[in-house]
Amino acid sequence: METERLIFFKDMILSDRGKLLKSISSVDSEIAAYMDQQLIEFSERSEEDAVVNLLNRLDYRQKKELSLMEEALSRIRSGTYGICMHCGHNIPEDRLLAIPYTTSCKLCTSKET
Ligand SMILES: [Zn+2]
Repeated sequence: METERLIFFKDMILSDRGKLLKSISSVDSEIAAYMDQQLIEFSERSEEDAVVNLLNRLDYRQKKELSLMEEALSRIRSGTYGICMHCGHNIPEDRLLAIPYTTSCKLCTSKET
């Protein structure tokens, strides 16, 4: 995928992530603490009280969504974003626009379910 498109999707995911965090916290410092974190595993963030408090407020579905967003951001960094995890084909952009953090193409998703 072209760098320009990657940046577009990165911004989209970052903005979705911001919205998710805002929905569980109105405390800006908590959100800022989380947003400042580099992409590291949740468990490694345990020193950051504000971040832990924030993450504790997430329900299962929100936690899952947040971790999918983190994974998508890390795939953007590693250059594997937009590639189906199962068949290795490019995921069509209209699908990425609908679900920016998806890891599989439509065909593979339909096979799974
Ligand atoms: Zn696929």
